Amino acid sequence: MRPLLHPSLVNGRSGDPALYVETLFEKRAVLFDLGDISNLSPRKIQRLEHVFVSHAHIDHFIGFDRLLRLLVGREKTIKLYGPKGFIEHVHHKLQGYRWNLVDRYVSDLVFVVTEIDSFFTTDTARFRLKNAFSTEAIGSSSSIEGVLHSEPTFRVSTTILEHRTLCLAFAIEEAAHVNVWKTRLTEMGLPVGPWLHELKRAVIENRPGDHLIRIGARPTSPDMRELPLDILRSVLTVTPGQKVAYVTDAADTLANREAIIRLAQNADLLFIEAAFAQADTALAAERAHLTTAAAGSLAREARARRVEPFHFSPRYSGQEACLLDEVMTAFAGRDAEGAGS
Ligand SMILES: [Zn+2]
Ligand SMILES: [Zn+2]
Repeated sequence: MRPLLHPSLVNGRSGDPALYVETLFEKRAVLFDLGDISNLSPRKIQRLEHVFVSHAHIDHFIGFDRLLRLLVGREKTIKLYGPKGFIEHVHHKLQGYRWNLVDRYVSDLVFVVTEIDSFFTTDTARFRLKNAFSTEAIGSSSSIEGVLHSEPTFRVSTTILEHRTLCLAFAIEEAAHVNVWKTRLTEMGLPVGPWLHELKRAVIENRPGDHLIRIGARPTSPDMRELPLDILRSVLTVTPGQKVAYVTDAADTLANREAIIRLAQNADLLFIEAAFAQADTALAAERAHLTTAAAGSLAREARARRVEPFHFSPRYSGQEACLLDEVMTAFAGRDAEGAGS
């Protein structure tokens, strides 16, 4: 099964954080962090529908202006997510410009902005071009239990990290692929029909083995019968969906470690900051960032299949290979001294 999600770092491992995630079958994309995005083509930017921002430090949010510039004049709704205070940041960005001629635009550009506080409760506001991007409060919700956005093909969850300000980390998970073996249906004497959708949904929703599925060629068939999920599993093949986690910026604290490991558990791909070299652990602590060794060990503890470190500090310009090596050493569980001998 080809993976649906195709993530790529817009500015490599050392530039401003921004992870563009393309979806294979649909002409839309998701962005994690809004650092400088001048490397993204207008066509790619116009595909964005959801943008998740870890926090509003300038290297994670300066790309908002380019997003805005390219989308003004288009009929478009963008959903933005960020930590508490984010609505205010978006408001100030938008109010940095004058919008007195907006009545001349035919199409409306809408930003729907949701911010998450440390109890996972959310506030949402809307900003419309045709309303000169004034703040329109939409409402708040009680705990979202970590799931920011969910739709049939994928969902995005979050956790909250400490970076001397609230900082969000994200995981995007593709729904499991469930396929029906037509030959097995025939062997079991079962008809095709809408009941197969119910069966697929029951599997994706992890229903118990004794969960009963109503079977029939049509919902009104006179010969409708019921079988438990366990018996019906043999007509299906289930391929788990791909999981990609995105973690930056975070102090190396116990609470952050636990939160990161939980979020990135069994990720196929973990993008994680490794701002400082292992030798600069004290500096990393002072700046509330992770080191290469911390990034590698977190990826290992989360049982990620692959780790992609990024957000290398510019102080290590030209030393990317060394930093990468430190991450991979920790990821493999070797200690740095032993690896060299
Ligand atoms: Zn930061
Ligand atoms: Zn940063």
